[in-house]
Amino acid sequence: MSDEKREAAPSEPSAAVDAEAVQVALDAADTSDEPTGPKKIAVVMAHPDDAEFICAGTVARWTDEGNEVIYVLLTSGDKGSDDPEMTSEKLVETREAEQRDAARILGVKEVHFMKRRDAELEPNLELRREITRVIRQLKPDVVVCQDPTVRWVDTQYINHPDHRAAGEATLAAVFPSARDRLTFPELLREGLEPHKVREIYLAGAQSPDVAIDITAQMERKLDSLRAHASQLGDWDFEPMIRQWAKETAEQHPGNGEYVESFKYFKLD
Ligand SMILES: [Zn+2]
Repeated sequence: MSDEKREAAPSEPSAAVDAEAVQVALDAADTSDEPTGPKKIAVVMAHPDDAEFICAGTVARWTDEGNEVIYVLLTSGDKGSDDPEMTSEKLVETREAEQRDAARILGVKEVHFMKRRDAELEPNLELRREITRVIRQLKPDVVVCQDPTVRWVDTQYINHPDHRAAGEATLAAVFPSARDRLTFPELLREGLEPHKVREIYLAGAQSPDVAIDITAQMERKLDSLRAHASQLGDWDFEPMIRQWAKETAEQHPGNGEYVESFKYFKLD
């Protein structure tokens, strides 16, 4: 969307973070030394470029560490143009190609486009079922999605309703729909067995409790954003992206120069 440049910062300045809770969550969230080996991580986002703004550094870090990351894009961003000559069909092609390029830069293995209409996402049962289907097909250990509780940030940014809808529907798909055998029995009839996602990271979160050092991945985060040329054009977003990550680092001291933060859940 054309308003992506005002996307929510990775964390809210007002968010109070309890140091002990952060450490507990960090230990739990450490993907590098668990005996289970590499994890499969599904990043479910509303639009092309959402992941690059709010979690690209972390995605690059996870792929560096040998984890498998798959993107699931609910829309292809077909409304993100003010050009009167541009049609939604042409824009879909461009934005999907840009998203694939960005994903490649970050080491993402696959990108799935669910082709929902941009700017019309609703967190209804139908969307929940479609995301449940994808989760049962992909069987991720970890799901990353948008924080559905963010309605606005400060006085300059109203969160895009698609971002909230994507987060809401994805959380509901993870718990309980993907896990529960008798929910959406039509999926079971398709041969899609229940699947339990073990961890969730909410990106762009209102009350983050996990900080991830992305200092070594910052250049690739910037490159992945540059791949979205149709949206970002000549805008020099680099100072803003560096500033967000610096401010987040200041809110979570001791984690590096550049940080992305998340609300984290470890499910039983
Ligand atoms: Zn967006």
